[in-house]
Amino acid sequence: MLLMSRPRARHGVGCFIAGVGGSVEDSIIGELIQERRWCPDCQLPTEARVHHCGTATVHVGGVRGMDNDAVNLCCTIAGAGIAAVLTVGKGSARTGSQSGTI
Ligand SMILES: [Zn+2]
Repeated sequence: MLLMSRPRARHGVGCFIAGVGGSVEDSIIGELIQERRWCPDCQLPTEARVHHCGTATVHVGGVRGMDNDAVNLCCTIAGAGIAAVLTVGKGSARTGSQSGTI
């Protein structure tokens, strides 16, 4: 840790912030936009278009087609974008590799 160069420390902090940002976005998008469905037979919420009981579910909220996988994809892209903004630029990894630090 004592040998950690400042750009590497900045990358670590940037990645941490990006991870937290992606997680927060996952919670927000999941709550506000993710499709919510309902099984009328079981009277249970679900994400599936056909519940495990075999009944077709009904759309009750969120954006149609915005399932958990789509939310995860959006949050992964957002987290990567946050990491790129926070870690690329002045004093990026190129500085560390050019100086020979590990
Ligand atoms: Zn059911």
